[in-house]
Amino acid sequence: MLKGKTALVTGSTSGIGLGIARALAGQGCQVMIHGLGDPAVINAEREAMTEEFSVPVFHDGSDIATAEGCSALVSAAEQALGGVDILVNNAGIQHVSPTESFPPEKWDSILAINLTSYFHTTRLLLPGMKQRGWGRIINTASVHGLVASINKVAYVAAKHGVVGMSKVIALENAEGGITCNAICPGWVNTPLVQAQIEARAQALGVPNEEGAKDLLGEKQPSKRFASPADIGALAVFLCSPAAQNITGTALPVDGGWTAQ
Ligand code: NAD
Repeated sequence: MLKGKTALVTGSTSGIGLGIARALAGQGCQVMIHGLGDPAVINAEREAMTEEFSVPVFHDGSDIATAEGCSALVSAAEQALGGVDILVNNAGIQHVSPTESFPPEKWDSILAINLTSYFHTTRLLLPGMKQRGWGRIINTASVHGLVASINKVAYVAAKHGVVGMSKVIALENAEGGITCNAICPGWVNTPLVQAQIEARAQALGVPNEEGAKDLLGEKQPSKRFASPADIGALAVFLCSPAAQNITGTALPVDGGWTAQ
């Protein structure tokens, strides 16, 4: 379905981003994966995707905590792919702590990576999308773009920002062929959440499996994790012709979390 299209997925060396990159490549889309990690592991994943889906897959490892890093990533993507039709802003980090003891430098890096990088990649790639008359911008927000939880002041602020930014970009491009939407996952079992599962298990003095159950039981009524592949399938749908008039939305994939 996406043969001839190109995609940049930020933060796709693991977790949800990798699930989205794999889903897009599975539809014949050329993909640039992006993110940090062990170069050998990333290269093996890139090669596996190329072979499995018979599409070119590239990687860039720019640190997108700065405007310069975002520009470097966009330049690398445009050079490798010859233009970016689908931008998935997905990179993200987390830090959990009450507001009064929340380290200011953590606030700065969460805002930079989880929100400001989405602005930079979007502003730099919109002109090419406008020129070609087609584009899809998909932002991984979170249920925390819609509701709050304690001890996540920077994350919740950044994710609410992503939902707001997605609406503005949708409206500014509503009459063209460009859509912009936010996906709002609840718990998805990835390395980012694994750290929270381990912390919960440790606090309760129980095995990690019990920590995961406790985490899910608190807020996610389905008591099941979504998978990165589930989120990837939604991203593919948002790129499909059937989704041409879906723009400016925030779509929860949260097992009922935000229905409560
Ligand atoms: P993850 O830790 O598995 O992946 C994060 C990715 O971001 C990695 O590829 C990492 O290399 C990249 N990254 C982080 N900092 C970077 C930097 N400075 N420069 C470049 N790349 C950087 O996490 P995940 O759970 O897959 O999260 C992906 C997105 O989904 C995040 O925006 C997160 O907030 C969001 N999200 C996750 C969940 C969940 O339950 N896992 C729920 C809702 C939203």
